[in-house]
Amino acid sequence: MRIADDRIIAVGPADAVVAGAPDDDVSDLGEVALTPGLVNPHAHLELTCYAGRLEPADFWAWLWALVALRREPGQVERESAAAITGAWESLRSGVTCVGDISRRNLNWRGLRDVPIRKVCFVELLSLADHPPRDVDELKAAVAEVEEDELLTVGVTPHTPYTVQGPAIRESMLLADTLERPWCTHWAESREERAFLRGEADAFPEFVQAFLAQCQVASPKCEAFEFLEWCARGASPGALAHCNYLVPGDAERLAAAGHVVMYCPRAHRFFGHAPHSYREMLAAGVTVALGTDSAASNEDLALLKEAGTLLREDPQAPSAERLLEMVTRDAARALGLADRIGTLEAGKQADLVAFPVSAVSDNSVRELLEQTPAAERVWVAGRRVI
Ligand SMILES: [Zn+2]
Repeated sequence: MRIADDRIIAVGPADAVVAGAPDDDVSDLGEVALTPGLVNPHAHLELTCYAGRLEPADFWAWLWALVALRREPGQVERESAAAITGAWESLRSGVTCVGDISRRNLNWRGLRDVPIRKVCFVELLSLADHPPRDVDELKAAVAEVEEDELLTVGVTPHTPYTVQGPAIRESMLLADTLERPWCTHWAESREERAFLRGEADAFPEFVQAFLAQCQVASPKCEAFEFLEWCARGASPGALAHCNYLVPGDAERLAAAGHVVMYCPRAHRFFGHAPHSYREMLAAGVTVALGTDSAASNEDLALLKEAGTLLREDPQAPSAERLLEMVTRDAARALGLADRIGTLEAGKQADLVAFPVSAVSDNSVRELLEQTPAAERVWVAGRRVI
């Protein structure tokens, strides 16, 4: 591989690629697998400070406990520091780009100084104590974010049960106007789907009380019909989870062109029913893998998400295909497919060297079986680990 400044300029056998280059400019990395930088499309880095604090549980029990933890004094300082810790932890595991959701739009300030590529998603949550709670506050928060070469702003209406439908729709259209990506959580639980269908008491009581407070009404339709209404006229976006599908949903998703972000270890943490990611892939949906937060996962090592599927799902796609789901397809989820996600001339030099026992046709499989920490990491051509 040959790089110049922040870009890849040639990929191929060493002899051909380095021909004519001065000796000082050539590095022999030894026995490593050189991969595109991993892209974690779905994380909440600010929750890294709650890693190990919450036991695996049903989603609602976990959420209730998380809300209490976050309310402990010093939340802003603690979570702002956690976003930075989480970003460095990500880099060390070979993640060079992260899609990070920040509840109060605080994370971008700290993340600007971390040499990781990031899409800082500003979250809209109607029932929150703090902005952004409506579309005007969302617009103001988005305008605050100072982008740079490595930092892109994004928009995320939280869920279809915590944001009013028209506001979800306006958020998606805002992302389009700004030419920035949007993501949201969708079809994460059975209760969410039942609520959207019109079952008024689907949620646990504490959630029902929140909903009454922010006046979110059920659209009385199926989850992906509602998504079609919200996203009508907007560019496709990225959907975290999609844990509960009914027949026909995968085809609807494929037709709409949204990317689904499946978080295998968080999925297991919450004890959800088996995920339909293979059915989605078969229907033509782009499925990327993400970690979700460290408060519902062991860590932020994205490679382990792919490794978990390879190890635990007898019908998992090949190791090579799984690697694409944490690189190329995840870049698509963040609207960055033209810049990162593959090793191609013209792309940004976001690269990872992982140690392997010996370079062979089996190296990708070995990588996913062993999931080592990264040996060296480059972002935009600059070595950061
Ligand atoms: Zn999430």
